[in-house]
Amino acid sequence: MEKFKQKMMHFMVGRYGIDKLYYGLLGVYLVLILVASAMGAAWINFLALAVVIFGFYRVFSRNYAKRRAENDAFLRLWNPIWSWCKLTKNRVRDCRTKVYHTCPHCGVNLRFPRKKGKHNVDCPRCGKSFEMKVWF
Ligand SMILES: [Zn+2]
Repeated sequence: MEKFKQKMMHFMVGRYGIDKLYYGLLGVYLVLILVASAMGAAWINFLALAVVIFGFYRVFSRNYAKRRAENDAFLRLWNPIWSWCKLTKNRVRDCRTKVYHTCPHCGVNLRFPRKKGKHNVDCPRCGKSFEMKVWF
C-alpha cells in the first residue's frame, strides 16, 4: 500500500491537480446526470461523461498555463454568480431587520437597519448622499 502511495505521488509530480474548475465540472456532471435521469435522455449521460473526463484530464495535465487560464475564465464567470448567491442568502436571512440598497452614485451594495419611511443616507464609499424609501 505504501508503495502504491509513493507511485501515485511520483505520478502526480508536475501535474496540474485539482482547482475550482474541477469542482465546477463535477457540479455540472451531477446536474447533467440528474437532468438525464429526469428526462430519460441517454445522450445527456454521454455529455456528463465527457464533462467528467475533461475534469480528470485537467487534473493529470502537465500544461499548467492552459489549465490556469481555463480556471481563471471559469472564476470570472463563477465569482459574480457566487457573490450574488451569498448576497441573496444574506438578504433572506436579514430581511426582518435589515434593508439592502444600492448606492445610485457608485453602485456599491449597502445594508441599513430596517426603519420604515424616507431616509437621507450618506454612502460610506463615495460620500455622496441619496434618499431611500423603506416601504415596510
Ligand atoms: Zn456610493
